Amino acid sequence: MSALEDYHICTKCGKRYTDGIHKTCDICREKMRVYHENHRENIMEGVRKFRAEHREKGLCIYCNSPAEHGKSMCKIHVERERMRYLKTK
Ligand SMILES: [Zn+2]
Ligand SMILES: [Zn+2]
Repeated sequence: MSALEDYHICTKCGKRYTDGIHKTCDICREKMRVYHENHRENIMEGVRKFRAEHREKGLCIYCNSPAEHGKSMCKIHVERERMRYLKTK
């Protein structure tokens, strides 16, 4: 935990107080929300590109580790997906 968090100060701007639940203040959170709203297409396009490139190179689609044979994810992420699947079941 960073010092700023302990004092309930926004970790983004370092100026305003947080509500004690979030790590960032209302203003920074609103800015991030708007940014994501406006750039959703770009962000998704970036993710798509990243995954396509990694698949081509035989790397995990979530990180830079080599993917498991015949899979699009590394050992860690295959396991994580499996755990998530089990949990939602
Ligand atoms: Zn802030
Ligand atoms: Zn991975």
